[in-house]
Amino acid sequence: MMRDCLKVNQTSITLIKGDITKITADVIVNAANSSLLGGGGVDGAIHRAGGRSILEECVQIRERQGGCAVGEAVITTAGNLPAHHVIHTVGPVWNGGNQGEARLLAGCYRNSLSLAAEYNAKSIAFPNISTGIYRFPKQLAAEIALETVIDYLNSVSDQTGTLEQVYFVCFDDENLDIYRNKLVLGE
Ligand code: ADP
Repeated sequence: MMRDCLKVNQTSITLIKGDITKITADVIVNAANSSLLGGGGVDGAIHRAGGRSILEECVQIRERQGGCAVGEAVITTAGNLPAHHVIHTVGPVWNGGNQGEARLLAGCYRNSLSLAAEYNAKSIAFPNISTGIYRFPKQLAAEIALETVIDYLNSVSDQTGTLEQVYFVCFDDENLDIYRNKLVLGE
């Protein structure tokens, strides 16, 4: 496993190459869909590795609030995973870029961070939301992810921020190269 790291106030942003289901963190983030009933990609991997209890909690959330809107986030426990909680956020499908995709993707990162803060999470791991089945251009997605997380960390720096670690978990080499370049260049 290789790592690159950048510090923003009290929080380290760390790049990890690998499978997010293996990450030990207070929160891992799932790139879910609005139904919350599971899908392919990282969503499928999280439900497979985490077991039925995650899906059962998702079903309860669905019954309560009818799923999850694009750009929003909900939280469950993490079943058999090494993480404590899973935040399920719904990334936008890329439709050319004029359908609010950038704003909605930023919302995924921001809303996940503030939900994690409500749960006093010390660490959170993000996958590269929307860059798989939802076809968001990887370069632009990485810019939005890093900028949104860094802005968030700067905006909460003078509060009792408990977040110590943000991990970006890159599954494919293309995303890893993109993130590594942006971190090294100091985004
Ligand atoms: P979306 O529908 O939001 O595009 P996907 O799961 O299809 O979600 O893809 C999002 C990103 O998750 C992609 O970059 C893909 O390479 C990555 N990914 C797939 N499986 C895993 C995994 N087990 N751990 C971390 N990232 C993963």
